Amino acid sequence: MTELTANIASIACPTEAEGPGRRWAAWFQGCAIRCPGCCNPHLFSTTGGTKRSVSTLKKEMAMALEDHAIEGITLLGGEPTEQSEAATALASHAIKLGLTVLLFSGRTIHELQTDPRQRNLLDATDILVDGPFDQSKPETHRRWIGSTNQGLHFLSNRVRHDDPRWEMPNTIEVRLQNGRLTVNGFPIPGKRFPI
Ligand code: SF4
Repeated sequence: MTELTANIASIACPTEAEGPGRRWAAWFQGCAIRCPGCCNPHLFSTTGGTKRSVSTLKKEMAMALEDHAIEGITLLGGEPTEQSEAATALASHAIKLGLTVLLFSGRTIHELQTDPRQRNLLDATDILVDGPFDQSKPETHRRWIGSTNQGLHFLSNRVRHDDPRWEMPNTIEVRLQNGRLTVNGFPIPGKRFPI
């Protein structure tokens, strides 16, 4: 049987700048949506990134729970729904571990709900931020959201729908990872830091 893999650009763990609480965040490599003004144009191409075994990523997620007491995972990119099988496997495993799943997609919730390939991923998603980034509509109030046209959808009862952390100011994180300095989070309203 072929091992399931994901093309991953980067992983941050633990992070508190990519969703509520302490999280394991994975940036998927590849996005065909290509929104003008996207902060991660280097993630458009499906080449680049690192081919990672999903079973290894699941183990890393479980270790992150043990070592850092993460409360959830964040799937972003790039476009996680373009690697739906891998994203679903990661999200389903997170739910099994008692973690919450936050998914960022440039597709709208309607597009995702009417695409049978995304059904299992949506079933394993607690919070969805949907829709393409619109650089003419920067978001200045809702934390972790790039532009005002993007939606915030609470899809399960595993998370608080009135979580006050969505109203707090954005943050950035700087870390030294394997000899490389990385920055993630949102430095200014409507602008996510490139990973
Ligand atoms: S903002 Fe998101 S959906 Fe839009 S091009 Fe960038 S990665 Fe893709």
